[in-house]
Amino acid sequence: MNRITKFAIAFSLCLIGGAVSADEHGSTVALVGGSVVDIDSGDSVTNAVVLVEGERIAAIGEAGEVDVPDGAEVIDVSGHWLIPGLMNMHVHYGLKLPGKMSAELANETEGELTLRMAKNAYDSLLAGITTTRSPGDSMHGDLALRKAIARGQAHGPRIFSAGESLVITGGHGSEAGETYVDGPYELMKAARREISAGADWIKILISGGIATNGGDIAQPLMTPEEINAVIDAAHRFGAQVAAHSGSPQATSIAVDAGIDSIEHGYFLDRPTLKKMAKAGTWLVPTIVVSQPATAPFFEKIGSPQWYLDRRTSVGKEHWKMLQTAIEEGVNIGLGTDQLPHEPNDGTTATAREAQYYVEAGMTPLQALRSATIETARMLGAEDEIGSLEPGKYADILAVPVDPTDDIKALRTILLVMKGGHVYRNDLATR
Ligand SMILES: [Zn+2]
Repeated sequence: MNRITKFAIAFSLCLIGGAVSADEHGSTVALVGGSVVDIDSGDSVTNAVVLVEGERIAAIGEAGEVDVPDGAEVIDVSGHWLIPGLMNMHVHYGLKLPGKMSAELANETEGELTLRMAKNAYDSLLAGITTTRSPGDSMHGDLALRKAIARGQAHGPRIFSAGESLVITGGHGSEAGETYVDGPYELMKAARREISAGADWIKILISGGIATNGGDIAQPLMTPEEINAVIDAAHRFGAQVAAHSGSPQATSIAVDAGIDSIEHGYFLDRPTLKKMAKAGTWLVPTIVVSQPATAPFFEKIGSPQWYLDRRTSVGKEHWKMLQTAIEEGVNIGLGTDQLPHEPNDGTTATAREAQYYVEAGMTPLQALRSATIETARMLGAEDEIGSLEPGKYADILAVPVDPTDDIKALRTILLVMKGGHVYRNDLATR
């Protein structure tokens, strides 16, 4: 990682650190009696003490090894497993899908949007998601939210953001007859505009998608010159680039240009996935969107028939792609393209996504890593978040069974701590 990138990440992390008032910085909390999952080995420290001072983990060890200072708040987590906060790399807090939802929100003002986003962020945090990445959201609401969270004016996950997506004329995300940004120079300028507004990622849409009629999902819509220009402009500022892509050809061009993450990957074939594995390119599968368990959600929001058909038609290919990506050892960061806390198959979209990874071939530990330390690595933030270690932010969840044996453990999250602050504790009332 170069110096500029390190600087950009350090800047983001000072923004994502917040949501803790001055006296809370001085507070000490001890989580006692639980099993602490080591995300590297999959082993657990049993009957552990996790000492949290202010926002960060101060010590982890077996009972008797770590002193609990007088005056510390003690939370009994015995019989439960402690894991790092979950991370979701594909979240649009202002998500508006075709159908009833879009109709209801047609005249939403900027203020209304921001408040809706704030509610979604708070609900995500309560569901155990402590870090998210926004690959393109509306009107920089997520950037405002990130600032508000850092100032303690709102509560939500740590937010990494791509600002607004760079949409090409006629492409995914475009409205018929409208013009957007086209050609290397316009795209470069648009990337710099987003970085200047505070984005640490840039999002491009290099093929068509499910949710709009802008171009075929499997077609490479952006030219190699355009893709190269955006990636070059972003990397010079230490920002990373995420590409929405369902197309093997478009993905292959983007990997050659040095793309950092590929979103969805619906129709990616084995040669393209091999190329991604070799280059270390990240895949954010958002598998939950195309699979049968999500059908009731789309019915609930009144999705139009064309959308449901398009979704079903990509489901099988998308699933095969995920299985192949796991076989080929592609870097996978968990992301849903649904709100992280959205009810899905009796749990949240985030927990269901992780469960799908196991059903597609990952071990439970691999899936848990995809939701924690791997995503931290994707963000370049693995020194601060993603595992339970002294010095890192105290983003900690309690679950009732060992998630390295059974990923369904993530279905029931009983305690949510972010930056040393307990946002939810169902253990106290059990
Ligand atoms: Zn998306």
